[in-house]
Amino acid sequence: MGALELSAQIQAGKIGAVETVAKYIRIAKNSRLNTFLAIPEERVLARAKEVQDKIDAGITLSPLAGVPVAVKDNISTEGTETTCASRMLEGYVPVFNATVIDKLEQAGMVVIGKVNMDEFAMGGSSETGYFGAVRNPWDATRVAGGSSGGSAAAVAAMEAPMALGSDTGGSIRQPCAFCGVTGIKPTYGSVSRYGLIAYASSMDQIGVIGTDINDCAALLEIISGPDTRDSTCVTDAPFAFGKENAAKIKIGLPRNYFNDSIDPEIIRAIFMAVKVFEDAGAVVEEFQMPLVDYIVPAYYALSSAEASSNLARFDGLKYGHRATEAKSLSDVYTLSRSQGFGMEVKRRIILGSFVLSSGYYDAYYRKALEIRGMIKEAYNQLFARYDVILAPVAPTTAYKLGENITDPMKMYMADVYTASVNLAGLPAVALPCGFDAQGLPIGMQLIGDAFSEPLLVAAARKYQACTDYHTRKPGVPNL
Ligand code: GLN
Repeated sequence: MGALELSAQIQAGKIGAVETVAKYIRIAKNSRLNTFLAIPEERVLARAKEVQDKIDAGITLSPLAGVPVAVKDNISTEGTETTCASRMLEGYVPVFNATVIDKLEQAGMVVIGKVNMDEFAMGGSSETGYFGAVRNPWDATRVAGGSSGGSAAAVAAMEAPMALGSDTGGSIRQPCAFCGVTGIKPTYGSVSRYGLIAYASSMDQIGVIGTDINDCAALLEIISGPDTRDSTCVTDAPFAFGKENAAKIKIGLPRNYFNDSIDPEIIRAIFMAVKVFEDAGAVVEEFQMPLVDYIVPAYYALSSAEASSNLARFDGLKYGHRATEAKSLSDVYTLSRSQGFGMEVKRRIILGSFVLSSGYYDAYYRKALEIRGMIKEAYNQLFARYDVILAPVAPTTAYKLGENITDPMKMYMADVYTASVNLAGLPAVALPCGFDAQGLPIGMQLIGDAFSEPLLVAAARKYQACTDYHTRKPGVPNL
């Protein structure tokens, strides 16, 4: 059952909020995918009871009232450990909620637990976390994608009907593609980042994951909207998705994305999706995406620069891991950070400090900023011609655990189709659009101009009304 339908049944009194939440807790606790890092059972059940009491009292909460949500572990939850899957934050319990959590609770949703991810959201496979890798529900010997791998895997494996993730360079879309679920990376500035533990602040954005676009749209309506505690959250009002018509849209297809560095089965699936849109009345035209070779270098220069600055706060003093054996102040910094951060995080901090250093700032950081501006301008021109850009999410389907983790360049290159969207601050929807010969899900993305979520949602609805990929579920994982 989808999340909207589940809530409708709860609100109609056909099923109880507490029993629903208890059932999901049981499933989540028995997970063999390493999805959940924390399930504060007593609190969760107490919350569900509060929601049930409100429903019984006839209070209308939202179309998702009573629905359990899994939350990526870089989103602060008051009273519940929030670790970013890092030893650095092991045991850290926030004293406040992220704005999105307050909004979920006001809407009567129930946070059932915190889910696994790449450490500090740095990675594309959910293998870099301190608490071990997330496994793919379709094949447990494979990665779930990342960095919101726990969020996508939990939804795909029906351990939670919905999840929150975050997307800095592709981290909602890519795990959605690998796990066969639907997700929205919203326009930068449409969802508050207050309480999201920062990776690269100019690109980070919280987004939603569900089994279909209707559930995702409903959840995005709840979490979006202005927030006085985040000055980059520039939207005037939450999204309100109506009945936009996506039949006659003009779709751009980046011809040069389809070369020999992408799996031919993905190309085939994307072209089948093109056909679905054309049959539904859309006009599809190919174009040459400019600057493709510069996307990944610019993204990694900028995201690492911002990360090196953001992660300076973890110094062993204020909060986070502290090396107790340290004998001097400089030992506290060095040992705490050496022990607290994993390999990938250290690599980014070093790269980021390097591109920001006085001798190299102009050559790397400033140049990357210029490229970012050019990419944004290129998208502006594209959206003068097209309503939506249809593109692959990743060059491959889910690969084997351990296969790419020792090859950072290979891992980074896999962000080529997603990261430009974050550099330009744009919204994108990821949707399942097929399966490869091994039965692994294939995803596509619909990219729109800033704040064009209503059109993206309408286009995604149109696609899902004509296809059933989003309804397919994995069997029991082969462990
Ligand atoms: N794979 C990208 C990275 O490692 C994206 C991560 C993200 O979106 N959080 O930076």
